[in-house]
Amino acid sequence: MKPGVVFGQDYQTLIKACKEGGYALPAVNVVGTHSVNAVLEAASKNKSDVIIQVSNGGAQFFAGKGLEDSFAAKVLGAITMAQHVHMMAEHYGICVVLHTDHADKKLIPWIEELIAHGQSFYEITGKPLYTSHMVDLSAEDIDYNLMESARLMKLMAEMETSIEIELGVTGGEEDGVGSDEIDNDKLYTQPEDCLKAWELLNPIGHFSLAASFGNVHGVYKPGNVKLRPEILKNSQELLEKTHGTEKNPYDLVFHGGSGSDKSQIEESLGYGVFKMNIDTDTQFAFAKGVGDYVFANDVAFKHQIDPASGEPQKKKYDPRAWIRKGEEAIVARLDEAFADLKSAGKTLAIRDDGN
Ligand SMILES: [Zn+2]
Repeated sequence: MKPGVVFGQDYQTLIKACKEGGYALPAVNVVGTHSVNAVLEAASKNKSDVIIQVSNGGAQFFAGKGLEDSFAAKVLGAITMAQHVHMMAEHYGICVVLHTDHADKKLIPWIEELIAHGQSFYEITGKPLYTSHMVDLSAEDIDYNLMESARLMKLMAEMETSIEIELGVTGGEEDGVGSDEIDNDKLYTQPEDCLKAWELLNPIGHFSLAASFGNVHGVYKPGNVKLRPEILKNSQELLEKTHGTEKNPYDLVFHGGSGSDKSQIEESLGYGVFKMNIDTDTQFAFAKGVGDYVFANDVAFKHQIDPASGEPQKKKYDPRAWIRKGEEAIVARLDEAFADLKSAGKTLAIRDDGN
């Protein structure tokens, strides 16, 4: 495939390669061009394809917190983020999936606006603005969740855009979506619900499924999160048996990947997980990279000229110096993610020069 943003049939080819190759791609949340560039740099360095995604809050930040109309900012920020990736991705020599993160019931208008902008982008460029949008109605009852997802999916399918839905609830909270107080049984998706989703959505277009198997957003003390990846296996097997499909028919998404046990990440790869979301760990990496630099150069963050030595501090407080430390720390954390998910060296992109 050509390097750059992938969508439609190429996206499905990429997913198939992940599942057959027993690897997954990190889906990294971004909040600005610095984090987008760090993800692209890390993917290029590791010769891995990658998923870049933005939450509603990340999109608002991308557009600028100073914009008074926060809804407009969420739409504009998501558009400008995607446009930055469309412009830059191919230059990094890897394939990139563009995704939006959790949109619950109150955020459906955000997705509808992005679909509308996506349609005009598609008419002009022949490409969708986003590879896939996530619609997370897991807090609603399942019939509403599936019918509303199907309605939006029909609009997306016309412009070769996929959808990610969620069944069962990811614990914790991500950017205002979700809650810390959920019935325990909701943290584990029922295989019968997955089957229902497949029967309704598969005829419409391409969907991926965030199935809950005890995963939680954020990082907690060891022992607080009980992952049961066998739930994914049971869901796959029920569909295989009921409709005689090939092995691992669902394209599964692992939410709350930050802080997860490496052996359980590995187990989930065998059950059709192709996408693992990572946000908390890259947030911390960025903060630590910048923080370490600030603590080590604290004079430069208080004085333009060192009062003791008289030395100008400009080179140290230049934002390119310390934001870069944050970017480097994101790259280092993603080196680990590409290794854990076994995607390093597996990019499907072939450049014009054959490399
Ligand atoms: Zn999530």
